[in-house]
Amino acid sequence: MEEELARFKDPVLARRMLDAIAAFSPGEAVLMEVCGTHTVSIARSGIRDLMPAGVRLASGPGCPVCVTSNSDIDTVIALARVPEVIIATFGDMTRVPGSTSSLLKEQADGRDIRIVYSPLDALRIAQDNPGREVVFVGVGFETTTPLVAIAVKRALEEGLENFSVFAAHKNMPGAIEAIIADPKLKVSALILPGHVSTIIGAEPYRFLAEKYGIPGVITGFEPVDMLQGIAMIMRQLHEGRAAIEIAYARGVMPEGNPVAKAAIDEVFDTCTATWRGLGPIEGSGYRLRERYAGFDAVSKLRPQVEQTREPKGCRCGDILRGIMRPDECPLFRRVCTPENPVGPCMVSSEGSCAAYFRYY
Ligand code: SF4
Repeated sequence: MEEELARFKDPVLARRMLDAIAAFSPGEAVLMEVCGTHTVSIARSGIRDLMPAGVRLASGPGCPVCVTSNSDIDTVIALARVPEVIIATFGDMTRVPGSTSSLLKEQADGRDIRIVYSPLDALRIAQDNPGREVVFVGVGFETTTPLVAIAVKRALEEGLENFSVFAAHKNMPGAIEAIIADPKLKVSALILPGHVSTIIGAEPYRFLAEKYGIPGVITGFEPVDMLQGIAMIMRQLHEGRAAIEIAYARGVMPEGNPVAKAAIDEVFDTCTATWRGLGPIEGSGYRLRERYAGFDAVSKLRPQVEQTREPKGCRCGDILRGIMRPDECPLFRRVCTPENPVGPCMVSSEGSCAAYFRYY
């Protein structure tokens, strides 16, 4: 296995891919990586600096914590203030500033905030604390949504009445469409997310090629994976083609994962979701279907949410749309650091600002 993985870091293979990229380079092009893990991988391996002149890699909206709107953060904080509530959340969410507080500050003020690694951990906390309400903070894309669906189904089967979900999950294709329709950023091609595509497959991106004529390649996360994906994009641009291709065949089937998709579909319906920096996008969020509506934390607990205020000077919205680099934000490194983050892009391990801070 280790030998197998070493191939994806092999400098000889990487050199070959770079030669292909240079040979097919169209001169001027903007390639957007929409996945936060790709952003970190590109930064860590120095791929951005190896691109031919005129080819720019732009980060997109693929960090789930970063795209969570400030009003959603405020709602989670309000849920944490409801008496007897336990908030179960992924670690990055605790440090994201809302309008006046964060889950970390709420924890310091005595609220019960617990870090979990899976929604099933939250379910266990609910089973162990029958007198308390456990709210799982559901952020993420199609990679985490199936597990949340399974947790909700299990809660219903077990008649667990003290478990609920703050459903802020999002799906990726709608956000990509909103970005490529933005006249400020002329995206030439997309480096499509490997993880999300293991669930949804290649089909949901087909409109990019067919409606907008924009090529997309689904890639993995190792340096050779990324370079192979970029080389395939360059070849398409060179040949004047637009198709959705898979450079991550060891992880992604064209049709995705039917079991995971069925779990999402059984528990969730799509709805309009508000994205940080992009605003409301129709069909890009998930809400619980009627059968599972009793597990919706907001309608169950009716929290008092404060008036939302955006963090002053933070340009996360422009970073997420790829129209600004993190180091172009006036607060970057001066005021905003991983120890003292002003916005979520500096908090999350997949955030562009945190990646720039660490690697550039
Ligand atoms: S550097 Fe900080 S303030 Fe600026 S966009 Fe990034 S997170 Fe927001």
